[in-house]
Amino acid sequence: DPNLLDDLERGEILGHGSSGRVYKVVHKRTGSVYALKVIQAKHDPAVRKQIKKEMEISRRHCGHSSFVVQCYGVFERMGEISLVMELMNDGTLADLLAKHKKIPEHFLSFVSRHVLKGLKYLHSKKIVHRDIKPSNLLLNRNPQLVKIADFGVSTELASTFAQCNSFVGTCAYFSPERFDPDVNGGKYDCSADIWSLGLTLLECALGYFPCLKEGQKPDWPTLICNICLDDPPAPPKDASPEFQNFIRLCLQKDATLRPSAHQLLMHPFLQIYEDHSCTLSTSLETLSL
Ligand code: ADP
Ligand code: MG
Repeated sequence: DPNLLDDLERGEILGHGSSGRVYKVVHKRTGSVYALKVIQAKHDPAVRKQIKKEMEISRRHCGHSSFVVQCYGVFERMGEISLVMELMNDGTLADLLAKHKKIPEHFLSFVSRHVLKGLKYLHSKKIVHRDIKPSNLLLNRNPQLVKIADFGVSTELASTFAQCNSFVGTCAYFSPERFDPDVNGGKYDCSADIWSLGLTLLECALGYFPCLKEGQKPDWPTLICNICLDDPPAPPKDASPEFQNFIRLCLQKDATLRPSAHQLLMHPFLQIYEDHSCTLSTSLETLSL
């Protein structure tokens, strides 16, 4: 619907991101609610066109998984790019982590199952997400789902971020090979998302970002050195052997050794909590989100 944007009324701000703001919006005629992401217009027209084109491509590919946030339209107007997407009501994994400091393993198992199903879908369509991190994993209590947002972050957008500070937030979850121009000529594949998922889960289990040592400045030369030169961060010793193994498999520096999303869906870490009486909503309640 080319007029969708005109029919939306902006409500509260749901969040600020590196690329712009996200608003809750209401469709005036139907009362349906959506999330609207507005990307600021700092880019020149050619770059903007490219961003919009890439978003359109990813939008067309991603209509059909319950584990990926739906996108209903991409608009460019007066230099602003806006994205109408499905509204997720219960915040992000980043919000949950900020509030509770650490997230219990059974909940991470639940999150993993949903995220891996989303990744399996995207990867089967040859889409690398490129930006798996806690703030891109959105929660819904009803129905109980975790969904991946912001797939296919355009390369244009990523390279403009590289010139500003927000790149640190974005590249913190990048796998080592993404910093190495000699690997695949600087290209990377689906296994990069598996690293990012592993790091995201590990951060949630530890309660701190594992690729920075105490007292280190969070600038990107430091970060890149740690990610590329250090051993991969290790899982907590008091975690279950299944979780420790899952994390070790994801965080292998050799990308070709990382299992696929499909393989990880069969990992014991997902099975040991399968019968766990805990559901997303009871978890969220006990965690009092
Ligand atoms: P980032 O992912 O880096 O935080 P974004 O611009 O993608 O930046 O999003 C900013 C914030 O807006 C997110 O952290 C989240 O809290 C919120 N948000 C994004 N998309 C949605 C959505 N579809 N539904 C509800 N909240 C959202
Ligand atoms: Mg996001």
